[in-house]
Amino acid sequence: MQELIEKYNIEKTFYKRYFEENARQRLGMEMLAFLLFKKGKFINPMKKNEILKAYIKEEIENFYDKGELNIPQIEFCITTKCTLKCKDCCALIPKFNKCKHIDMSFEDYKLYLDKMLKNVNSIRHFVLLGGETLINPELTKMIEYACSLEKINVVQLITNGTMKFSNDLIAALRKNNKKVYVYISNYSINEDLKPLLKHQEIIGTLKENDIKYQIADNKEWVKEKEFSDTPDDISTTSKKMYDCFRTQCNQVLNGHIDICSKAASARELGLLEIKDSIDIVNSKNLKNDLVDFYKNNYMDACKSCILSDEKIMPAIQGE
Ligand code: SF4
Ligand code: SF4
Repeated sequence: MQELIEKYNIEKTFYKRYFEENARQRLGMEMLAFLLFKKGKFINPMKKNEILKAYIKEEIENFYDKGELNIPQIEFCITTKCTLKCKDCCALIPKFNKCKHIDMSFEDYKLYLDKMLKNVNSIRHFVLLGGETLINPELTKMIEYACSLEKINVVQLITNGTMKFSNDLIAALRKNNKKVYVYISNYSINEDLKPLLKHQEIIGTLKENDIKYQIADNKEWVKEKEFSDTPDDISTTSKKMYDCFRTQCNQVLNGHIDICSKAASARELGLLEIKDSIDIVNSKNLKNDLVDFYKNNYMDACKSCILSDEKIMPAIQGE
């Protein structure tokens, strides 16, 4: 691998954010597809490292020799409205309650997705989330559309487990049950939230309709410390970004692609001046902009972002 890194002069962040992440998502989605959808073949977990290396090599060659570009993972935030008001929401969603919420219409959703797919070879992991995703009245259409697109490998619908699924949504998920799965966040360790969580009911409906799902581990959160008034320098920011797992959670909110949900919300809420998000519709060369985005190791939001390791109870509710 070192040979290829030297040959193409690949920087550390680009290697991790683009090549390694694509290989990781490709393998992860193949394992998931076999486990949930009974598609593809069994992959021996003992051979994971070997396969990852082969996929990274392939990704590098395809990028430089064939001009291929794949999006490892992209999240579409289709509503900032939520049924909960978690104080430490890592996407800062409750702050939208004090200003204007953002709902993505199906028309805009299709516009962003079509333009992105025109410029890339695939999206390996396509995620629909919120806020609470089920609040968006056009979610069913969005699921149907994403599942119909060949360039999207796997679709994930995230819910916080507080809302019942409509009959239409269930029908769309059942029809596409070899491509889409539901991921239920799990805040049940927080006794205060137990009365609001509909896990049993949701899981019962999903099982009855042969819809694949996963439920998150019931684990601690970390305190959300938002942003500092003093941005970090290049080397501190690069290290922070390199170590932050959320650089893989690139998000589309209101037509822009940002490094993560915290950055996207900060931009929309006017908490920070963010100039390096990608304006999907107005981008003159989206493919180049995406490559620059994956190469960037000093992003505006990350300069001021405070990362914390203070463990707290999940989903403590605020005002
Ligand atoms: S953490 Fe999830 S459930 Fe809680 S406010 Fe944020 S988006 Fe809503
Ligand atoms: S802004 Fe940057 S450092 Fe902060 S959570 Fe997002 S990706 Fe990580």
